[in-house]
Amino acid sequence: MQQAQYQLIIVGGGPAGLTAGLYAARGRLSVLLVEKGATGGQVLVTDWVDNYPGFADGVSGFDLMDKMTAHADRFGLEKRFATIASLDLAGDIKTITLENGEQLTAKSVIICTGAKPRKLGIPGEYEYAGRGVSYCATCDGPFYRNQEIAVVGGGNTAIQEALHLTKFASKVTVIHRRGELRATKILQEKAFCNEKIEFLWNTQVLEIHGSKNTGVEDLVLQHFNNDQSILKVTGIFVLIGIAPNTEILPMRQLKSDESGFLITDEEMATSIPGVFAAGDIRSKRSRQIVNAAGEGAVAELSVEHYLGNQAPDQPLNCSE
Ligand code: NAP
Repeated sequence: MQQAQYQLIIVGGGPAGLTAGLYAARGRLSVLLVEKGATGGQVLVTDWVDNYPGFADGVSGFDLMDKMTAHADRFGLEKRFATIASLDLAGDIKTITLENGEQLTAKSVIICTGAKPRKLGIPGEYEYAGRGVSYCATCDGPFYRNQEIAVVGGGNTAIQEALHLTKFASKVTVIHRRGELRATKILQEKAFCNEKIEFLWNTQVLEIHGSKNTGVEDLVLQHFNNDQSILKVTGIFVLIGIAPNTEILPMRQLKSDESGFLITDEEMATSIPGVFAAGDIRSKRSRQIVNAAGEGAVAELSVEHYLGNQAPDQPLNCSE
């Protein structure tokens, strides 16, 4: 019978993947973490994390992920920075094919591919992406010093990042499609008290206008009474939630919800034996760094349980 190269391959190196990797390396599994970019995931571009236990004064997203990576490294987690082309998860041995054609095999897989920012899908959004349209306040905020900008969305990300953007912009207009925010009360209170933030309620962005030379110049807005207006801004931050990173996953093999997030049980097991999922890729209500890390730990412990019930590769020889 074919033997797998690894007991476990973890796909994705955000908080969930790194925690699973830390547990697996410390638990002496033969484990590989495959990540296409830098370890850290979406948190890397989060300006400030104020609610991760143990960091009483808060911590930057970058520093937190740096510490998580160093922690996994201390136990010798093997990492591979490569782009995955496809995964075949159906059999007892799971095969991961990299973009360069190389194949990696494992007895179990933890999927931690996370999620990416959702798009508005309106005219001008694609055209001016990177030239006034942004999905990351931490990355692009400093470009808007003393300028008037807009943030679209009413969740934690939109309000947290609107607050962050007031460090640079002269005015931040939050455009929200409803009359109340989804963000937590503490963020709402901070935003309502911030003199640089103005709210446009029950308003949608219909189009983004600009010019080839200068990028975004204004937004066409539609208000609750169907009136339209123009808002002059040089930047628009679209922070309207996330979509699952499933492009490389065999979605015909995996059960998912209507938005494409993976369905697991409470032990993080997906619909395929030996395949687990953790972090933002899972179908769930709360997406916090601390959940992702916790789910990474649960998924790895489930892998240990799963492997414990599998036949060993070679019979034990206690006389050696
Ligand atoms: P979210 O909670 O799903 O909020 C998305 C926001 O965008 C909602 O206000 C939604 O409006 C709006 N929206 C969605 N589609 C839209 C569209 N097509 N046009 C206009 N507006 C649209 O997403 P999120 O804020 O990115 O947060 C994602 C997860 O991360 C959440 O679980 C959140 O709690 C978590 N998070 C936590 C923290 C923290 O704890 N500090 C920070 C950031 C994120 P409606 O309200 O009308 O649906």
